[in-house]
Amino acid sequence: MSQKQETQFSNRLLAWFDQYGRHDLPWQQQITPYRVWVSEIMLQQTQVKTVIPYYLKFMQRFPTVVDLAQASQDEVLSHWAGLGYYARGRNLHKAAQQIAQQYQGVFPSNFDEIVALPGIGRSTAGAILSISLNQRFAILDGNVKRVLSRYYAIEGWPGQKAIENDLWDLAESLTPKQRFNDYTQAIMDLGATLCTRSKPQCGKCPVKTDCQAFSQNRVVEFPYKKPKKIKPIKQAWLLIKENQQAEIYLQQRPQKGIWGGLWSLPEFESIQACEKFLQSHGSDAKSLIEWDTFRHTFSHYHLDIHPLYLKDKINLKDEIKQGNETPATSKVAENDSLYTLGLDNSLELKWVDIQMVLSGEIGIPAPVAKLVKQLQNRKRDGLD
Ligand code: SF4
Repeated sequence: MSQKQETQFSNRLLAWFDQYGRHDLPWQQQITPYRVWVSEIMLQQTQVKTVIPYYLKFMQRFPTVVDLAQASQDEVLSHWAGLGYYARGRNLHKAAQQIAQQYQGVFPSNFDEIVALPGIGRSTAGAILSISLNQRFAILDGNVKRVLSRYYAIEGWPGQKAIENDLWDLAESLTPKQRFNDYTQAIMDLGATLCTRSKPQCGKCPVKTDCQAFSQNRVVEFPYKKPKKIKPIKQAWLLIKENQQAEIYLQQRPQKGIWGGLWSLPEFESIQACEKFLQSHGSDAKSLIEWDTFRHTFSHYHLDIHPLYLKDKINLKDEIKQGNETPATSKVAENDSLYTLGLDNSLELKWVDIQMVLSGEIGIPAPVAKLVKQLQNRKRDGLD
């Protein structure tokens, strides 16, 4: 493509953006690198309309990078719960702490410093610098990959390194010599509103005259799909155990792996493992009720969740009398028969008020929130 055609692409796109682009999104107001960064991280894998309420709540609680750095990880994750891909929330928090320590709480304005922060790749760093500081950097998020794959009719899956490198080169060469902030917003908008995954509106597209996929009538073929791989299915048995104070037993997940750092129901590898544990700790395994199994799908596998509800309510006060520490915050001690669930003893366990869980004050994964709601509904309806 000649330089003239490249200039035409950006000119047409910018003229379209001025008239039809989105200008009123929350992160387009009071623009700062911090605000753009948070929006970019939230928007990875998540749609704009889902992100908006989370973003507003997050910004209200953490208006500056220093506020975010000073918060506990638990609190940050509680504001993330429901958005999924929790590593994004953990990295955001880690990066904020790094900015507070290394850059005295001032968001860096240099590409190499930004891209070195946890959870920030080349495209996100480019978006932060172009949108908030009007610096000339290209971006290549999912929307831009789709637009360019179609515009140039790229024959290959964009996840392949060689194809991705080609797309980066094209993204760089199309970036104009001015209005970098608007151009970045414009190409993202084109992908999000017209050049959508399904039912693209090519008739309204400002660059349709030069779009290869459109002129070849092959729009639906691009971008090429990832070669199919069948997702494995894993199983987990989750124990739902409450006490007479309407509290539920939760365990903090390890920092690494699924739901890292969130509070979850104690997990077993089989129903027998759970029964065995309950028997060896004086609970009647017969009062274990199996609720309906449901599937939760992660990017790499399906997880079939088997909820196990322990009907016998445990009397918290009696347990305390037996000499245990206050369970609300205690680490699980070895051989502490009432609190050791046969699980990883280095992980923290605690009783948490069910209302607190339902109000979202504590970071829990969506399927666990669903089970706690189910527990409340079943109690209301007199089931179990
Ligand atoms: S013409 Fe259609 S496929 Fe091509 S860039 Fe525009 S919306 Fe996308």
